[in-house]
Amino acid sequence: MSTNSGQLRVPVVWSEDCLLHEPAGEVWLGIRDPGTEVPERASVILSAVRAAGAAIVPAQRHEIEALHRVHSPGLVEHLSTIWADWEAGGYARDYGRDRVVPYVFPTAALLAGLPPRLPAATHGQVGLYCYDTMTLVGPGSWAAIRAAADAALTAASMITVPRATVVPTTVVPTTGAPTTGAPTTGGQRASYALCRPPGHHAGPDGYGGSCYLNNAALAAQALRDHGADRVAVLDIDAHHGNGTQAVFYPRPDVYYGSVHVDPGAGWFPHYTGFADERGDGPGLGANRNVPLPPGTGDDDWLAAVEQLCAEVRAHGAEAIVLSLGVDAAAADPESPLQVTADGYRAAGELIGALGPVAVIQEGGYDLGSLAEYVLAALTGLQAGAGIRAE
Ligand SMILES: [Zn+2]
Repeated sequence: MSTNSGQLRVPVVWSEDCLLHEPAGEVWLGIRDPGTEVPERASVILSAVRAAGAAIVPAQRHEIEALHRVHSPGLVEHLSTIWADWEAGGYARDYGRDRVVPYVFPTAALLAGLPPRLPAATHGQVGLYCYDTMTLVGPGSWAAIRAAADAALTAASMITVPRATVVPTTVVPTTGAPTTGAPTTGGQRASYALCRPPGHHAGPDGYGGSCYLNNAALAAQALRDHGADRVAVLDIDAHHGNGTQAVFYPRPDVYYGSVHVDPGAGWFPHYTGFADERGDGPGLGANRNVPLPPGTGDDDWLAAVEQLCAEVRAHGAEAIVLSLGVDAAAADPESPLQVTADGYRAAGELIGALGPVAVIQEGGYDLGSLAEYVLAALTGLQAGAGIRAE
């Protein structure tokens, strides 16, 4: 494929603050590795969407209460203060621990039925919220985490159609020049938030999997809060979005559908993402996981995407959030799926035809092909949505 096969008409929401998060690696199986969730991921995507002529829209700051619609105040407070506490505690200066990493976790085995208390020691507190050792916090992390959430909320606001107001359709930009400006208020057919860090592994009260706040869930909740009775989150990242599933599991109003590499074949997040997880209580039936074996390529992956799209239609979703992880790419180091850029383009077309879509960047770690895959998905999506590329 060619990255300039069409002008990108989907507006891109961005904040430079997303580059400030430098996890400086991840502790995997006891060893600190360089990690793959690096600032360059966002830089290469930004360059590519700019080159494709997309309008760049600044992420707008939202109140902290918007974060509390999905996450516990305790988690938000922890993320916003833990680095300062870590620094004040001398962990970096006196002990050479230059990033926040948990070492003890209040699992069921430890608590044995007792409620978790907030530990007095900072290094004891981290495991209360962070469930793995791969999701490090550094000095610039909170600024980036909040900026990514703001980008997602801004992208959601761009496709919102307020109930009380009749908004004319076709507000998608018609000029090809890269521009910077405030987002128009709602009514767009598609928007894309270039979020970093990603979000779909972050749950209501905890974080992990290189995710801190759940950008897609925040977008979906904002769409519900601003007029959509039914919303769907489609997750085509190579890994199960356990955090998004957890947020909406008991709810019938937000459908969650995910295609991902089978956790039962040994892949992260290991404990969730199985086909029999269908929702709980009133939410029963509004959750669908399609786990695929390692090595799966375009045909079976797209069949799963089609199945999820059919369920989104049946759900009656008025707005869609797409968790766009492109780590199902054949060259990606983080998953064994073998999807091509054309596969992502085809998925974008299917999803763009469903209704207004706010696209949220999730994973994707092969710096050589990442941007090509994102562009393929977005240009496919605008074609499916009937947005003309000129
Ligand atoms: Zn992933």
